[in-house]
Amino acid sequence: MAFYHALQIEEPSCIGCSRCMKICPTEAIRIHGGKAAIQEHRCIDCGKCYEVCPAQAIAIKDDDFEAFKKYPHSVALLPAVFMGQFPDEISVSQVYATLYELGFAHVMEVESAAMIYKEAKERYAREHPDVRPLISSFCPAIVRLVQIKYPSLTENIVPIKAPLDLSAMYALEELQSRGIPREEIGLFYVTPCAAKVSAVKAPVGEEKSIIDGVINMNSLFNRVYKRMKDNGKNHQYKPLTRQRLSADAILSTLTNGERRICTAKRSYSIDGIENVMDFLDKLENDEVEGVEFLELRACDQSCAGALLSVDNRFLCGERMYARARKAAERERNGEMARDREMEKYQDYLIEHSTVDEVEPRSMMVLDSDIGKALEKMERIEKMKVHLPQIDCGVCGAPTCEAFATDVVCDRAHLEQCVFYRLHLEAKGKMTLHEGRTNMYAVWGDDRISGEIEV
Ligand code: SF4
Ligand code: SF4
Repeated sequence: MAFYHALQIEEPSCIGCSRCMKICPTEAIRIHGGKAAIQEHRCIDCGKCYEVCPAQAIAIKDDDFEAFKKYPHSVALLPAVFMGQFPDEISVSQVYATLYELGFAHVMEVESAAMIYKEAKERYAREHPDVRPLISSFCPAIVRLVQIKYPSLTENIVPIKAPLDLSAMYALEELQSRGIPREEIGLFYVTPCAAKVSAVKAPVGEEKSIIDGVINMNSLFNRVYKRMKDNGKNHQYKPLTRQRLSADAILSTLTNGERRICTAKRSYSIDGIENVMDFLDKLENDEVEGVEFLELRACDQSCAGALLSVDNRFLCGERMYARARKAAERERNGEMARDREMEKYQDYLIEHSTVDEVEPRSMMVLDSDIGKALEKMERIEKMKVHLPQIDCGVCGAPTCEAFATDVVCDRAHLEQCVFYRLHLEAKGKMTLHEGRTNMYAVWGDDRISGEIEV
């Protein structure tokens, strides 16, 4: 069964440069006919391909921005990193006020549920002392990475809803408790990345999310910022009091944010997909011992470095630290943060926070018949011996091993390997015309337009 994917290649714009294929951490991209194509069973929506594409040929599927307007009680569920995008002179209060001006009836930051998420995880840890290390479910790209590449570790993922789902549950309960019918409530998550779009559209461990739509953070930022500019300097924003998060909640979305408040004796916080994979390789090979909790994030600097961040990840992170310092000062002065207000729903939210156990969905399944799968595995090993092992990518696959896997799964032909083609041509088993046709099948027929003068 394929995953839902938030990223899609827009073929007409793709120039077949193969940068995406070379960077993809799960070897999910191939080139066919001069265009990139994603193998859906391998893609984790990490967005590495999106970052490197020089032709803007990779798009994130979000919902129509206007969709929230059809709900009288629309709720903008913001990630705390949204506030980190704005220059220092713009206050959180102004951002909230502008969102109301744009038409949202309610605004809340999803990290309001960060402490409830923490409590739910700790309860799970106490109830499952034999499962260690526990892996945070916060980053959906990591959950998918574990599912497809480290299937033996899926039982280590804490099966608890992420803060964005818990805060959506809170918003729904709170509004319904005021007598507002469900059909008048629209829950819209402002996403900083592709993986969270997929987490909403096809949540792992749940049938369906209660969130009604997803809005691209980058495009919302542009609308808010433009509105502020149009409003001018002297515009009076309605004073707001309910926009405050605690310092712990603000920082929970950054690297080390979960780890710094967890009670595990030994825990690690690792960001960047390559670093995470390096660590999980060791964990899978039993080279790591005694770790109780792992905070793993696909993006460098966690959500501050997410795909749809407008500003530099370090600047965004520093703004969030500055906001957290102010929040800590307010807390010392006895002011209540928004997330503390949620405590009245804590028992309800924790009680409904569990999802089904995360299932493995290994990308390495070669066949549903175990006998045939073993046979294919043997063929891959034999083929690898003869392939050049230089991972040149001319076959349209990122590595010789990925190519061999595609060949045994009938997704590619051995003649796509340029070295093998030369071998066949030298032996008189393939004509130049046939060789060229194979090359065109991968790269398209317009790569070289004529003689090259040097
Ligand atoms: S989103 Fe990540 S896993 Fe998916 S194709 Fe792009 S780089 Fe590969
Ligand atoms: S990076 Fe990938 S999607 Fe973008 S132009 Fe190159 S081959 Fe096409």
